[in-house]
Amino acid sequence: MECGALEAKFRELKARLAEVDDLRAAASVLGWDQQTYMPPGGAEGRSRQMATLSRLAHEKFTDPAVGHLLDDLRPYEESLPYDSDEAALIRVARRDYLKLTRVPASLVAEVIGHQGLSYQTWTEARPANDFARVRPLLEKTLDYSRQFSSFFPDFEHIADPLIDLHDEGMTVATVRPLFDALRPELVSLVEAIAGQPPVDLSPVYGHFPQDRQLAFGLEIIGDYGFDFNRGRQDLTHHPFMTKFSLGDVRITTRVREDDLTDALFSTLHEAGHAMYEQGIHPDLEGTLLADGASSAVHESQSRLWENLVGRSRPFWEHYYPRLQALFPEQLGAVSLDAFYRAVNNVRRSLIRTDADEVTYNLHVMLRFDLEVALLEGKLEVRHLPEAWNDRYRSDLGIVPPDDRDGVLQDVHWFSGLIGGMFQGYTLGNILSAQFFEAATTAHPEILTEIGQGRFSTLHGWLKENLYRHGRKFTTHELVQRVTGGPISVEPYLRYLKTKYGELYGVEV
Ligand code: ZN
Repeated sequence: MECGALEAKFRELKARLAEVDDLRAAASVLGWDQQTYMPPGGAEGRSRQMATLSRLAHEKFTDPAVGHLLDDLRPYEESLPYDSDEAALIRVARRDYLKLTRVPASLVAEVIGHQGLSYQTWTEARPANDFARVRPLLEKTLDYSRQFSSFFPDFEHIADPLIDLHDEGMTVATVRPLFDALRPELVSLVEAIAGQPPVDLSPVYGHFPQDRQLAFGLEIIGDYGFDFNRGRQDLTHHPFMTKFSLGDVRITTRVREDDLTDALFSTLHEAGHAMYEQGIHPDLEGTLLADGASSAVHESQSRLWENLVGRSRPFWEHYYPRLQALFPEQLGAVSLDAFYRAVNNVRRSLIRTDADEVTYNLHVMLRFDLEVALLEGKLEVRHLPEAWNDRYRSDLGIVPPDDRDGVLQDVHWFSGLIGGMFQGYTLGNILSAQFFEAATTAHPEILTEIGQGRFSTLHGWLKENLYRHGRKFTTHELVQRVTGGPISVEPYLRYLKTKYGELYGVEV
């Protein structure tokens, strides 16, 4: 086929995908509204409207004409440089197309129906501490998860197709060695810290009025470089980030007036996700590439701005006087040191979402191991609560008193498939330190600038090296390009050991 004809086909593919993007974005607006301003009475109509939009987007994307275009465009893709926008779009569209078309539509519909029932049952079973009630549903979910994987026989491990849905290119074989290297180090760090006197948390508990908490968070993310001309923040129950276009990236938070840390760190976290999206190159707008590379890379940016920057000593040297001025009665007599310790408190706890930087990954890695064991058939659902508690005992040194705060605590296995949804959290933490180390190696002044409330060098480096690429590269490719080497746990371990070794006065 002639070059001109291929270019015409590429334009047709792009136009078709742009319509899919429009439908998805419209569904996202409805989803954002549902979780922020919609009155309860809107629930029924809203879920119908969102289902219609996703069905239309799915039909448009999986149209056989798209498959033909992708086949016809192979020579065009091969004639272009691998890192060109055009080749990347065809490559990513082909991967997505395969994922959406290999699984029969009838099975997808069945699974969606099952997930609705499973989620509803979980919302009742968790407060009732009743694992037996969700057990048959979870068994069915496991069965569906295995069926899903069976449509992708080209993967090595049964969990790989599920991991690939969220972290393209990552597999059990690539994730496991990283986790195996991290786990024992974290277990000993947590043990060493647990032997130290507990930190006084009173500085962050008290009464902190909502308006001032929100103003402080907005001030910081403005300094970070969050673009309010292309984004905004609203209140919700479970904070999230969502994007309608590169010109409209929204974050949400919730405020607890008795806890200063909840809104603040969720704001810094979601702003990290949002700045990644805002930093994607405008040329990628309206295509599948205008998105984060993977769950792991996305989470690396929320964690970088939340933890490596927002919980660092230089950061608080700059912002603590400002915070004290906002809350003079509550913090006027609290030293910077005491406050810094309180926001970096490490303790063994049962709930993943409440966990600190050091213990958090132990919660995640044990879930990853359990879901892989379930998929492999080495663990049965009926033995899951026991296996869960055993891992809490060996990894965190504590055992949940009941299943409510044990195996029933996370929504993931009860609202989606089993597999693929947890590894991204810890990979994100690992990558946050690896990217941050690469940035500060290139620009050592970043550390001083953080202590002056200036973030443009760091933000500029991240935009230039990471954000602008959107989804053009897989996690592996991006890490290689940005850091010059493969994914490694070393920078993250160095970061944790240095910071917490100093904070707790422990040798690790
Ligand atoms: Zn996140």
